[in-house]
Amino acid sequence: MTSAAFPNILRRSCEWEKGFPFGPCRRWLYTRDFARVLSDVRTSDGGMRWYSGRFGTRLWFALLLSASAYCQTPAVTLDQSFSETRRARLQALANEVAAIVAEKFSTAQLHSLPIRVYRDGTPPAPITTLDDWQMPTLIRIRLNVNDGLPYAQFAYQLGHELGHVMLGLYRSSGLLEACAVAVSYDVLDELANRWAADASPLNREYSPNFRLYREQAEQLALARFPPEVRAAVSQKSWKDVSLYLRMRSFDVDQLSQELVNHVEGRALQALAAIVLRAKGAPWSKLHRLGDCPESRPEQKSFSYRPIESECMAPIAHTFAHVGAGLFQTDLLLATFDQVPPRGLGFVFWWNAVNKWARLSEIKRSNGGKIRKRLGASSATSIYVTTR
Ligand SMILES: [Zn+2]
Repeated sequence: MTSAAFPNILRRSCEWEKGFPFGPCRRWLYTRDFARVLSDVRTSDGGMRWYSGRFGTRLWFALLLSASAYCQTPAVTLDQSFSETRRARLQALANEVAAIVAEKFSTAQLHSLPIRVYRDGTPPAPITTLDDWQMPTLIRIRLNVNDGLPYAQFAYQLGHELGHVMLGLYRSSGLLEACAVAVSYDVLDELANRWAADASPLNREYSPNFRLYREQAEQLALARFPPEVRAAVSQKSWKDVSLYLRMRSFDVDQLSQELVNHVEGRALQALAAIVLRAKGAPWSKLHRLGDCPESRPEQKSFSYRPIESECMAPIAHTFAHVGAGLFQTDLLLATFDQVPPRGLGFVFWWNAVNKWARLSEIKRSNGGKIRKRLGASSATSIYVTTR
C-alpha cells in the first residue's frame, strides 16, 4: 500500500463512525486484510508515524511531583454570594471536604494560594480558575448550587473542583476530569461515613444522602451505556469495562470545554471514575499530574491537552484500568451481524452502527493472529488501534 492510499482507509473508517461523538476514527485501521496492512504500514514512513499513535514509542521517564512548600492548613473560604444564614454551615462542610481531599492526596495543604468559593445558581457548570494565570494570587471556584442547604450537591461539586486544584490548575482533559469525578465520589462516601458517626443527630440523619447522591450520579451516567457495559459494572468485570473505555478514547478525545462538558463525555468520565475507585488509584502520585512536565511554557495558561507519555509512564498501570495511556497491546474491534461467540473478549450491542461488536487485546505485530481470528469468525469488519 502506498502512503497516498492510506488516508482513504482512514476516511472510510471515519465515515463509518458518523454519529459516534467520541469515535477514535483517527486511530483505527479499517480493513479485512490485516496482515497486508500491518506489514505495509510498518514499512511506510507516513503510515508508521500514524500507526505509532499520539504517544509514539519514546517512553522516557520524568518525575512529576514538584517540590511542595506547604506549611499551613487548607484555606477554603466561601464568599458572600452564599446567603448569610447558610454560610456558616456550608463553610464547615467546605473545610471538611478540603481536609478529605488533602488527606487523599497526602498533602498537608491543598495549595499555597488561598481558595475562594462563590455561588452561582445558573449554568454553566462549576469551574476553577486563577485570578491571573501568569501571576496568580487567588484560586476561584465557582459552584452551581441551590441557595438552600444542598449538602450533597455542594460537597460533590466542591470535591470535584478541589480535585482539579490537586491535579493541576493549568490543564484539563477527559482523563483528568475522570480523576476529579472519582475524587468527588470519594468525598461523598467519606462524608457519609463521617456524618453517620457525628455527634449531631441532624448530621446523622442526613448522612445517607451523600452516598445516595453518588449512587444517583453513577446511575445517571451508566444509563447512557449499552446494557452489556452496565452488566460488566455490576458484575465487577473491570477488564471488560476497560476495553470499552479504551475503545471510546475518552482520555485523548475530550480536549475542549465543549467535549468535556458534553453529556456523553460526562458519562464516560463517570464510568472511568467508577473503575478508578474500584481498582484503586495512588492519589499521591497523581498530585499535580496536569502540571507535568514541569518545564512546559504552556503551563502559564489554561488548556485542554492529553497527558504526555513521560508523565503517564510512572502511573501507566493505574490508567490502563480505564483504557487510557500507554499500552503494550493493540486493541481489536470486530463487528458482526449476529451475536458472536463470547469468551474471546467483551461483546456488546453497538447501537451507533446497529451491529454486535467484540473488543479484545492482541499482541503487537500479530497480523497473522488477527487474520486467523477474523477468518474463523463471521465478522463484517475489523479495526485495530495501538492505543
Ligand atoms: Zn471538572
